[in-house]
Amino acid sequence: MTAISNRLQHILSTLPEGVSLTAVSKFHPIEDIRDAYAAGQRIFGESRAQELAEKVPQMPDDTRWHFIGHLQTNKVRQVVPLVEMIQSVDSERLLAAIDREVERQGLKPLRILLQVHVALEETKTGFLPEELLALAPQIAERYPHVEVAGVMGMASNVDDEERIRSDFRRIAQVYHQLRQSVYANSAAFDTLSMGMSHDYPLAIAEGANMVRIGTDIFGER
Ligand SMILES: *Cc1c(COP(=O)(O)O)cnc(C)c1O
Repeated sequence: MTAISNRLQHILSTLPEGVSLTAVSKFHPIEDIRDAYAAGQRIFGESRAQELAEKVPQMPDDTRWHFIGHLQTNKVRQVVPLVEMIQSVDSERLLAAIDREVERQGLKPLRILLQVHVALEETKTGFLPEELLALAPQIAERYPHVEVAGVMGMASNVDDEERIRSDFRRIAQVYHQLRQSVYANSAAFDTLSMGMSHDYPLAIAEGANMVRIGTDIFGER
């Protein structure tokens, strides 16, 4: 067993049933991704279009790639055919670009998560909760080539555990509000992605069913 497969197995053993893992492999070499794949991991998260495009052909076809970083609209064309999901849809402009490109390339509707911004840091992107609740009812009609699969978010990068908890609670609240209204009849809307290496236990406690972990599996970037 490699160090990576050991750390991966350990994390998997701590995840409650029903919580799935995006192994965040950004900036890590293909050998490390192969170690995790050999240990059974299939979903990998990347945050740069170029890096994703270089890695995809080097891994088996059943590797499931998720895009998790801020995606510029001029990279959408490259990313869309390579991924199972874009977890980081943070603007209507990006939503429109994805919709257009999926149609143009003749692909099946692409699963996406709507990114909610609740953190203190201005550098983090995403829809404000009110913004998202207002936009969501329009999405199906305006953007039929995306399939909204849920919500993604990040907590503030602080030591204050209560602040982290309340950020996750806010993101979860948006997810549940949408699930009970706009997406009440959508089986596809089933994913609440939140929690990274340093805060995923708190995210799970607040209802995450997808966590995105890099450092704790692959080491420091
Ligand atoms: C890099 C990244 C992660 C993983 O962070 P770690 O601290 O390495 O676990 C999770 N989510 C997003 C959006 C990221 O960019």
